[in-house]
Amino acid sequence: MIQEQNYWLTTVDMPRTDLSRALPETADVAVIGAGFTGLSAARTLAAKGAKVVVLESQTIGWGASSRNGGMVLTGMKLPVNKLISMYGRERTQKMYAASLASIACVEQIVRAEHIACDLARCGHLEVACKQAHFDDYTRQVEVMGREFHHALKIVARKDLRSEIGSDIYFGGMVDEISVGLNPARYVAGLGAAALRSGACVHEKTRVERLERERRGGSSGWRLQTSRGPTWARDVFVSTSGYTSTATPALQKKIIPIGSYIITTEVLPDSLARELSPRNRMIYDSKNYIYYYRLTPDNRMLFGGRAAFFPESGDTIRKSAEILRRGMIQVYPQLRDTKVEFVWGGTLDFAFDIMPHAGKLNGMYYSLGYAGHGVAMATYQGQLMARCIAGENPDNPFDGIPFPGAPLGLYNGKPWFLPFAGAYYKFLDWIS
Ligand SMILES: Cc1cc2nc3c(=O)[nH]c(=O)nc-3n(C[C@H](O)[C@H](O)[C@H](O)COP(=O)(O)OP(=O)(O)OC[C@H]3O[C@@H](n4cnc5c(N)ncnc54)[C@H](O)[C@@H]3O)c2cc1C
Repeated sequence: MIQEQNYWLTTVDMPRTDLSRALPETADVAVIGAGFTGLSAARTLAAKGAKVVVLESQTIGWGASSRNGGMVLTGMKLPVNKLISMYGRERTQKMYAASLASIACVEQIVRAEHIACDLARCGHLEVACKQAHFDDYTRQVEVMGREFHHALKIVARKDLRSEIGSDIYFGGMVDEISVGLNPARYVAGLGAAALRSGACVHEKTRVERLERERRGGSSGWRLQTSRGPTWARDVFVSTSGYTSTATPALQKKIIPIGSYIITTEVLPDSLARELSPRNRMIYDSKNYIYYYRLTPDNRMLFGGRAAFFPESGDTIRKSAEILRRGMIQVYPQLRDTKVEFVWGGTLDFAFDIMPHAGKLNGMYYSLGYAGHGVAMATYQGQLMARCIAGENPDNPFDGIPFPGAPLGLYNGKPWFLPFAGAYYKFLDWIS
């Protein structure tokens, strides 16, 4: 029997907060959302002495932060060639450096806060679903070496068994710098760290409306929440794929896209080593991507965009079978292995598939991580906290154009997702 439950949550106790505590009348900063972005920002701001209130409509780590694959990856969703054509060489170099800094940032927090989240620098493996995809790897390795002094390794098809126990791919590309962790344990640890540093986290508190309001000579924001009003001088929006009508200008710039994961029963050690001899974080080269890895207790975790819609009981149930079929295509060895857990979560895609951070209509924000958020969300939370505290950190994602929908054809309800799904399947067929 498959449990419709996030496996990672069975491995951790999330920090609890007192739900009866009243909201503060005022704060220096109100952070909306208690995932990696919001908790990282709250931890940094509170450590700098700010009075921080984190408002979370559900519970700490409830969103994508506890539901993801735990792959802490170098780079961004878009390939570097594309980034150079969009932003030029210099800014792209800074963006790539930021992706490496974001991994270092996660490692530093895990060390400093003693977070037991099975963090391991195991590297990632991208596998080519077509010969043309593999041919492109050679070009990518050359660009990465030349522009970023970053070494990637090509793995020819004949050598692929040293990396993955599957014969369906045309070759692979390895980056040794990427990291794996247990995301639920990490976000729990980040939450505990934010609380220890003095941030006040209010769970079950949905922000419904924000209005400009001056108090005691200071400009600021009145936040109407499901548990009454509060006021803050600054607001930081860190709601990612769950961004709602409370912040309509941001909602119109973010497409919420579902991503789904299954995990198997615990595998015998020999089978686990056969499937992933080097314990890599693995993903394939399709638009309709599969990503997979072993969990620290040797389950196969297998994820993908089985449905484009955000998670619901229906999409989760359908995804379990679609993903199981995908997993067996990759690993026929798992034909008789039980799938024990299935769950889904929502990703935040900007229209240009880039992370964005900055200030919009007077509110600070950071979102748009598009499935590359474990490290970048943590890092942007820190950078934006420093920005709110009056510092001027170099942030290559602050100030880049933040496009809305073409022709303004989007009001926050993603009516086009079925077409987008079909379009990506078509691209995978022809490319
Ligand atoms: C299935 C899945 C797999 C993924 N795999 C990976 C991976 O392997 N590697 C990787 O790097 N990234 C991955 N990602 C992406 C990564 O998880 C996210 O980018 C990251 O967690 C975003 O963190 P966040 O704090 O910005 O948002 P979230 O963790 O989504 O938190 C946002 C929070 O805001 C709250 N909220 C929303 N609106 C309001 C409101 N009005 N009032 C109060 N609270 C509100 C929500 O309840 C939620 O808790 C994956 C995502 C999913 C869904």
